[in-house]
Amino acid sequence: MRGLKGKRAIVTGGARGIGRAAVERLLEEGARVAVIDQDADACRGLQTALPEILTICADVADKDQLEQAFTEIAEILSGLDVLFNNAGISAPSPFLELSVTQWRRTMAVDLDGVFLCAQAAARRMAQGVIINMGSVSGLLGMPRYADYNAAKAGVIELTRTLALELAPAVRVVCISPGYVLTPMQEAEYTADRMAALNARIPLQRHADPAEIAALVAFLASDEAPFITGSNLVIDGGESAGGTASL
Ligand code: NDP
Repeated sequence: MRGLKGKRAIVTGGARGIGRAAVERLLEEGARVAVIDQDADACRGLQTALPEILTICADVADKDQLEQAFTEIAEILSGLDVLFNNAGISAPSPFLELSVTQWRRTMAVDLDGVFLCAQAAARRMAQGVIINMGSVSGLLGMPRYADYNAAKAGVIELTRTLALELAPAVRVVCISPGYVLTPMQEAEYTADRMAALNARIPLQRHADPAEIAALVAFLASDEAPFITGSNLVIDGGESAGGTASL
């Protein structure tokens, strides 16, 4: 991938799942990588496995923690070129049982966190790219995920507006994966549910996190200089049939 060597990148939620796959891919491409993640144990494990990276334990929903983390990282790396705004949470709940507490926490992490990190990054970038993590859940209705779907729809729209305001110096792109097999998903699945979900996906399987990481690396590189404001769907065809896919 052209133009990633030496780039200074932050990956939020990079201690595991898709974020970790992106960290590994960006390192392979020669980038210098810092991770912001709230999971202290996972951060320690990551730091041991990949001593060349910088890890900071912080909550993306906490403005003060983030400000400190971005300042420290930008100082150590002498600037910032790439933000992968990836940290997110989801938990299923029927709408009538969805608590205000869960609604607010999902919004705080999945939408406010993206806003706060994008602002902190853009203020420190002379030129760069911000890649926001959306989801096909932000494009299609999906029962039992009202909070998550609404937050991800917000991320997709936020991306368009930021792309307009931050151009031409900073490109802002959203990626919307379908089902990806990560700890977040595995925690929720039974074998039957996995088989039922795979049957709904035209490519008949979940994505591997490395496949999402490859898209992130491409978008962050000099191979994608004319891509901004877009939402790139990577879902094995799940949403190709629109509502008929559900
Ligand atoms: P994982 O749960 O596997 O990993 C997410 C990482 O982010 C964890 O280390 C988690 O820590 C951390 N994190 C969660 N909340 C915060 C926070 N407030 N501040 C800092 N770090 C935090 O998730 P995935 O890799 O599956 O998902 C990553 C992103 O991709 C999410 O935004 C998700 O919505 C999105 N996505 C995932 C899909 C999938 O199928 N997996 C499909 C479409 C989108 P902890 O362990 O403490 O929670």
